Amino acid sequence: MNTHIRFILFGAMCSALPLQARETDTLLIEAEQFSERGGWQVDTQFIETMGSPYLLAHGMGECVADASTSITVPGDGSYKVWARTMDWTEALEREGGAGRFSLSIGGTQVGGELGKGKGEWHWEEAGSISLKQGQTTLSLKDLSGFDGRVDAVLLSRSQGLRPPEKCLLEDRIAWKIPGAPLAVEDAGDFDLVVIGGGYGGLGAAISAARMGCKVALVQNREVLGGNGSSEVRVWAKGDLPPSEYLMADIVREISDSAQASPAAAEQFVDAKKEAVVKAEKNITLLLGHHAYGLEMKGEEIAAAKLLEVKTGKIKRVKGRLFADCTGHGFIGQWAGADLTMERKGRMGMSNMWMWKAEASPRSFREEPWMIDLSEKGFPYPQRHHAEWFWEGGFDSHPIKELEQTRDWNLLASYSAWNAIKNHGVYANRDPQEHANAKLQWLAYVGGTRETQQLIGDVVLSDADIEEKKEFPDACVLTTWSIDLHIPHPVYTKENPDRPFISKDIHRHAVDKRVGYPIPYRCFYSRNVPNLFMAGRNISVTREALGTIRVMKTIGMMGVAVGRAAAICKVHACLPRDVYRDHLDEVKTLWRMPGKQRFDSIDELRKSLGESTASTK
Ligand SMILES: Cc1cc2nc3c(=O)[nH]c(=O)nc-3n(C[C@H](O)[C@H](O)[C@H](O)COP(=O)(O)OP(=O)(O)OC[C@H]3O[C@@H](n4cnc5c(N)ncnc54)[C@H](O)[C@@H]3O)c2cc1C
Repeated sequence: MNTHIRFILFGAMCSALPLQARETDTLLIEAEQFSERGGWQVDTQFIETMGSPYLLAHGMGECVADASTSITVPGDGSYKVWARTMDWTEALEREGGAGRFSLSIGGTQVGGELGKGKGEWHWEEAGSISLKQGQTTLSLKDLSGFDGRVDAVLLSRSQGLRPPEKCLLEDRIAWKIPGAPLAVEDAGDFDLVVIGGGYGGLGAAISAARMGCKVALVQNREVLGGNGSSEVRVWAKGDLPPSEYLMADIVREISDSAQASPAAAEQFVDAKKEAVVKAEKNITLLLGHHAYGLEMKGEEIAAAKLLEVKTGKIKRVKGRLFADCTGHGFIGQWAGADLTMERKGRMGMSNMWMWKAEASPRSFREEPWMIDLSEKGFPYPQRHHAEWFWEGGFDSHPIKELEQTRDWNLLASYSAWNAIKNHGVYANRDPQEHANAKLQWLAYVGGTRETQQLIGDVVLSDADIEEKKEFPDACVLTTWSIDLHIPHPVYTKENPDRPFISKDIHRHAVDKRVGYPIPYRCFYSRNVPNLFMAGRNISVTREALGTIRVMKTIGMMGVAVGRAAAICKVHACLPRDVYRDHLDEVKTLWRMPGKQRFDSIDELRKSLGESTASTK
C-alpha cells in the first residue's frame, strides 16, 4: 500500500493555492519516496535552493535500473502529467541534455524523453494519459546514465491546472494537495539537539550522551560521518597529541584507518560509527532527517523543523540547546547568528573518483556536452584515484550555486575520463589498460570545505595561532598546517572560467607533535544564546579554518561541546555561562576519559560535587 501518498479532493481549498485548479483531483508524488528506487540515488544536498530531496540516476555512463512506486488514481479520466526536473548540462551552458529519462504509468510511457532543454528546476509537461480509478504503477526509466534527476511527479485531471512555481519545502506544505507534506509530528524534547552527523556532530552527540544528556542527532544522509563517510571518502586526519584533556578518546572510537582517500567504501567504517552511536541509550538517532527550518523563542532556538526524507513526514524536535554541525552553518544562519562568508576565492567542493582495470574491454560513451580535455587540463589520476584536488566552485556561491558546482565537478570528471578512455595522450599512455578501464566510483555527494563561519565570543585568527596566543579556555588541539586551496595555476589555463583542479598552499604554523589549543569560545554563537557549533563552521577566520578543518580535530571540538552541554544542563545555564562561571568544572569533564559514563545528569552532578569536594 502506498502509505506515503494521500488522496483528498481539494477543490474548495484551491483558491488559496498557486495551483490554478478547482474541483479537480491532483496528486503529487515525491520521487525520493518511491518504494523501489532501482539504481536511482536520493540526493539531499540542495534542498535549501531547489526545495526537496530528489532522485538522481547516477550511472556514470550506464543506465541505472528503473525506479517505481504504486500510486492510487483518484478517479477515471484523462490526467496531465508533469515531472519536476532540470537539464543540468544546459545549466552549465553545455548543450546535449546529459540526464534524460522517461516516465510511465501503468506500463504506458507518458510523453517522450524528459530532462532535456531547460537549465533550471521546472515542471516539465510529459503529456496526458487516460487512467482508471485505483492502484497502478508509476516508474522512471533512466535513458542516459548521466545523472538525470526527478524531484516530483504531478498528475491532475484539471485542464486549467498550472503547477506551482515556488517549490521550497515551506511552499509545498502550503500547497495542501494530496502528497504534499501535512501535519507536524512531535519528534521529542531533548537537552541537546545536534544537527549534522559528521565528525563534529558525532563527537558532540556521543560525549553529551555519555555525560547523561538526552540527545537527538539529526543527519540528512542514511550514513554518519559527513565527508568522512563512504559517500564522500575523505580520510580522517589531524594528530591527537598528548593533552591534559582526553577529547581524543571518542575520536579514536569513530575514526577510520583508511589506506587512501578515496578508497573502497568499507575503509570509511560507516557501520562502526553507527554502532558507537546506537550503543548510547541517551541518543535518539534521526538518520535520513533533514533540518529545514527553526522555531525561535526570542533570541533562542526552540525547535528545529525536520523532513523525514523517505516518508515526507514533517517533524518538530525541541531542545534546550542546539549544536550546528552542518558544516554549512545553516542552523546559525536561520537563527540569525552573526556570521561571515568569504565573497570569492573560497576553497571549493570535491567529487572524488576511482577507476579500475577489468579483465576485458569496457567502453565509455563520448557525449556532446563533455568538454574537450587534453593532458594540459588535468593531472593523470595516479593509483587510479582522482583525489582531493579535483575541486571546483571557488568563486561560486557556496549555497545558492552549490548544485552547479557539484554538476561542474561531475562534468569535468566525465570529460577527463573520456580523454583517458577515448583519445589523447593519456589514453595512449597504456592503451591496453585504458581499454579495459571502468569508472568504478564517482561521488555524487560532494565534499565541501568552506561555506560560512558563525561568530563566537572569540574569532580565532592565524595570527593568534602563529603568536601562540594563550586563552584561558584553550582546549582542542589543532595540528594541521594552515592549508588553503586555490585554482591550480597550470591546469586552470585550459578552463580559466571554471577551474576544477586545485593547488594547496600550506603555512606550517603549528608543531603537530604539540598542537595549538583552540579556545572554547569559538564553539558557541555570540548572539544566539543556546547555539553551539562544532565543525568547519566554527568561529575562526578563513586562514585559521585552514588548520582546524581536519576531521580528528573537528571530532574533538564535538567532544568539548558535548561536555559543555552537560555543564549547561547541570546548572541550567547557557554556553557562554560555561566559560564565564563554570570553566573549572567543564575542564574537569574535558579531563575525563572518553568511556566515562553517567546515566543521568543527577549522577554527573553528584560526581562533580564529589570531585569539587575532594579537591578543596
Ligand atoms: C575532498 C576533501 C578532502 C579533504 N581532506 C581531508 C583529509 O585528508 N583529512 C581530514 O581530516 N579532513 C579533510 N578535509 C576536510 C574535512 O573533510 C571537513 O572539514 C570536515 O568533514 C568537516 O566536518 P563537519 O563535521 O563540520 O562537516 P561534514 O563532514 O560536512 O558533516 C556535516 C554533515 O551534516 C549533514 N547536514 C548538513 N546540513 C544538514 C541539515 N540541514 N540537516 C541534517 N543534516 C545536515 C551533511 O549531510 C553532512 O553529512 C577534506 C575535505 C574535502 C572536501
